[in-house]
Amino acid sequence: MFYTSTRDRSIRVSSAQAIAHGISAEGGLFVPEEIPKLTLDDILSLAKCDYITRAGRILRLYLTDFTPEEIDSCVSKAYGSGKFSSEKIAPLHKLEDGVDILELWKGPTCAFKDMALQLLPHLLTVASSKSEPGKQIVILVATSGDTGKAALEGFRDVANTRILVFYPNDGVSPMQKLQMTTQEGANVGVCAIEGNFDDAQNGVKAIFTDKGIAAKLAEKNMMFSSANSINWGRLVPQIVYYVSAYCDMIESGEIAPGDKINIVVPTGNFGNILAAYYAREMGVPVNKLICASNANDVLTEFIRTGRYNRVRSFYTTISPSMDILISSNLERLLFLLSGMDDRLVAEWMDELKKTGEYEVNGEVFSALSSLFEAGCCDDKQTKECIADTFEKYKYLCDTHTAVAVKVYNDYRARSGDETPVVIASTANPFKFSKAVLDAVSPGMTEGMDEFDMVLGLHVETGEDCPEQLANLRDKKPRFTRCCKKEDMEQAVFDMLS
Ligand SMILES: *Cc1c(COP(=O)(O)O)cnc(C)c1O
Repeated sequence: MFYTSTRDRSIRVSSAQAIAHGISAEGGLFVPEEIPKLTLDDILSLAKCDYITRAGRILRLYLTDFTPEEIDSCVSKAYGSGKFSSEKIAPLHKLEDGVDILELWKGPTCAFKDMALQLLPHLLTVASSKSEPGKQIVILVATSGDTGKAALEGFRDVANTRILVFYPNDGVSPMQKLQMTTQEGANVGVCAIEGNFDDAQNGVKAIFTDKGIAAKLAEKNMMFSSANSINWGRLVPQIVYYVSAYCDMIESGEIAPGDKINIVVPTGNFGNILAAYYAREMGVPVNKLICASNANDVLTEFIRTGRYNRVRSFYTTISPSMDILISSNLERLLFLLSGMDDRLVAEWMDELKKTGEYEVNGEVFSALSSLFEAGCCDDKQTKECIADTFEKYKYLCDTHTAVAVKVYNDYRARSGDETPVVIASTANPFKFSKAVLDAVSPGMTEGMDEFDMVLGLHVETGEDCPEQLANLRDKKPRFTRCCKKEDMEQAVFDMLS
């Protein structure tokens, strides 16, 4: 199987090249030339297997230049070494008959980014040993919180890799900051910068594309690579858990083989929901894909009207990982829905860059609206949904998950659609203790610090805080440097030496 670019179909690379390079040279995203299929028999056979076997079999269909042994080794290191707190890796939690929550946060950082970032480092080292043998890979990340920590945990002590993370000093939550500054591992580096997330991101991009810096790295036999969410190596692990969820619903008797399901995804960069789309194209019977947004509702408008317009207010919300106005992975969906029309996709992306908006044609819009549904809610509705869901089911959602539950409840009431549903849950509620505690016990967070709130949430709900978050209280920070944005290049070389 080969990969091509969403903006230039004449490009043809192996999966190892697609993963090692991350993004295509002309700015397009790598996609497989065709989507492998699963028959119902294949799905029934996967249903009898554990998560690691399911993952290995699905990855083999996409990474055909990896040997089966290489894939099995990557998958076992990611999901088989006890770093996930559930044996099922991505378990379903049943709210009521036909309504299941897919818990994607059993990994080491308690957020769904672990599902991909525990596996990507291993895929990347195999991929680059094929395309750039002997080089040490240096991963640079600018983060507004979750991604940086998940990348640090994923790359920690992975042979032949180094990982350096920059975060805005005043732009992450106290819990997120502690998670990063206390990071363990011999190949990791963390540095705060004076500035906001955009400053961190721009600094990283500038370093990434600087030829002089690349040459200095080459002298050390090192090269940059990227772990960001447009890398195919982050998307492919996410397809697995949707197939796996369908298998689990068959196994539990909740659906009969072949029955359709709906899938609801709290969406930011469009990676997670795109993985659900791939699962459907592979053969998982899906009726509707429901895209849930917070107050940053650019995708809701797009799915309802076919017009994408990023020229709008940006809101900072209690579901920060969805505070995004440009959903990069949407480009891959446009490519697929337009019948792989690279010229059209390039035009739309160009318009987006120049004017901040574009409108898709009738063919793409009708394909989009026949499969996708969309909805959004604000912070007040999100908190109400956390409280209602806890009261009704004794189930505690984090803020991102609650957006999805609310959008699903609205959709069900509006449409009367009773198709069995999987709602993706993307973070443990203790990662966002303040907003969640505020939702279940309004007013209680007054004057409390982060760990008071963790305790408060435990007392109020009876839920336990994951150890790795609770333990942060007593950990000493290892990384205390905060640099000016002009000094990021120096910080990179200091951390590498
Ligand atoms: C990253 C993230 C999302 C958004 O996922 P996308 O793939 O970017 O759409 C949702 N919730 C949480 C907790 C996240 O960390």
